[in-house]
Amino acid sequence: MIHNYDDDCIFCKIIKGEIPSYTVYEDDDVKAFLDISQGTPGHTLVVPKTHVPDIYAYDADLAAAVFSKIPMIARAVKNSNPEIKGLNILNNNGKVAYQSVFHSHIHLIPRYTDHDDFGMRFKDNSSKYDEKAYTDIQNAIKSQF
Ligand code: AMP
Ligand code: ZN
Repeated sequence: MIHNYDDDCIFCKIIKGEIPSYTVYEDDDVKAFLDISQGTPGHTLVVPKTHVPDIYAYDADLAAAVFSKIPMIARAVKNSNPEIKGLNILNNNGKVAYQSVFHSHIHLIPRYTDHDDFGMRFKDNSSKYDEKAYTDIQNAIKSQF
């Protein structure tokens, strides 16, 4: 695969070896390394070895190359520590969605208890929706394909 780099991108620098990382896996397509924040122990990032800013920039081949590796890397993280009881997989796109590094990456976040240092909140707004509201949203998305 041809790799395109962005000279100002911190993850491109990690991929090129210009900045150190705690790499746990790499191949021609992806590099997986410890997230420096270690939100929970084992918190790992998987990045494509070519610079793409976010999920919208993947073509099908890049998506296949990157996302097909996630289960294998997830198993390695899970099996690395018997205390790991679960794993959240997260991909942030856009500042509003908490993306801070604009080289696309997938977070693998091991979970130890329901009160460890990671949380997510999905509010249930279904009581505010009627059939028309659901179908309007459904059709707005469907029409984009
Ligand atoms: P996001 O907020 O989804 O864009 O995630 C970016 C992640 O990159 C954060 O969790 C940071 O802790 C992590 N990060 C930033 N710089 C480095 C670095 N040099 N090595 C490893 N992880 C990093
Ligand atoms: Zn990059």
